[in-house]
Amino acid sequence: MEFNFLWLLSLPVFFGLGWLAARIDLRQLLRESRRVPQAYFKGLNFLLSEQHDKALESLVSVAHNHPDTVELQFALGSLFRRKGEIDKAITLHQSIVARQDVTEEIRSDALEALGHDFLKAGLFDRAEDAFTRLLSTNRSTAAKEALLGIYQQEREWPKAIDMARQLSDTPHAWQAEVAQFHCELAHRAMSELDWPTATLNLEAALNVHRKCVRATIMLGDLALAQKLPEEAIKIWRRVESQDAEFLPMVAERLLRTYEQQSRLDEGLALLKGLYLSHPSLDLLEHIIHGELQQGRLNDAYVLLKDELRRQPTLAGLDQLLQVQLQVVPVERRADLEQVRQLVHQHADRLNMYSCKHCGFKARQYFWHCPGCATWESYSPQRYRALA
Ligand SMILES: [Zn+2]
Repeated sequence: MEFNFLWLLSLPVFFGLGWLAARIDLRQLLRESRRVPQAYFKGLNFLLSEQHDKALESLVSVAHNHPDTVELQFALGSLFRRKGEIDKAITLHQSIVARQDVTEEIRSDALEALGHDFLKAGLFDRAEDAFTRLLSTNRSTAAKEALLGIYQQEREWPKAIDMARQLSDTPHAWQAEVAQFHCELAHRAMSELDWPTATLNLEAALNVHRKCVRATIMLGDLALAQKLPEEAIKIWRRVESQDAEFLPMVAERLLRTYEQQSRLDEGLALLKGLYLSHPSLDLLEHIIHGELQQGRLNDAYVLLKDELRRQPTLAGLDQLLQVQLQVVPVERRADLEQVRQLVHQHADRLNMYSCKHCGFKARQYFWHCPGCATWESYSPQRYRALA
């Protein structure tokens, strides 16, 4: 086969074309980079070095001279909101929503940002309006989650139930939360002595989330309020099979109800049986209280000693010393009292409920954490082990 040497002559032409293309791209790039104002880079630098005030100053000047730069307007809006200048963030995001030359996607972004601005400003009605407008867009899940947050803050439980049910096909099923919303409605109904509404809501809570201990506790309270103590005891005992960790929360109710029927020993026997299967100082505390009430100091002392052996805690030691004080001879009492006071001071600092989600501590038990607004995040047991 004969090779045509003329093809070799075309090689420099190809190289030349490649070189030309590269030059054109380079020129294009240079032209574009010259178009980006210097103040923009200055703003970025300030942002990266966390100097938000200076960043804002530079970026505002860019935005003023280039009002069509939507991304920059978003960055500014978020900066304004973070700095607490909500009115400026609102004006910025509103101006993007009102623009005719932006895509639906950008308008939705601006609407979502606007909703969060209103939320931060505490203007819940206007935030609700912004998120409701997003329900028909591809941001509907984020909008529903934001609306659910608003309804919880506003304690609008029926709306919260409806919204959480709409979100039930998301990875988080919201069953525990819906049950809690029903409990809140039942709580409201009980304070108005509206037993039928309370019953309906508590049953609805258990239907949606059968492990909802709060609903069971409240059903027992409801039975007691209707003068049905036997029924109340029967209901509270169900907590053992639901979640035994919560037994201390019904222990006091059980003892008080047995006591009112002059059957305190029967109640104590029931709690001791529960304690054997699910030992905890929180539960034992109620048994000790009952034993002391019945004048059985020695039984209380032995129970506390065994508990300390099982799980050494300052709170347990504090209670043991308290019982011991009542049995020691008078001449030893002053010394022991001094030791007990010291232990009590330290134990008291640890006797707190704690949120498993954010670590917020409180003396009172919360079904809804005041720190992070999570439901059922508090452990029902308080005491910390020494070791
Ligand atoms: Zn929390």
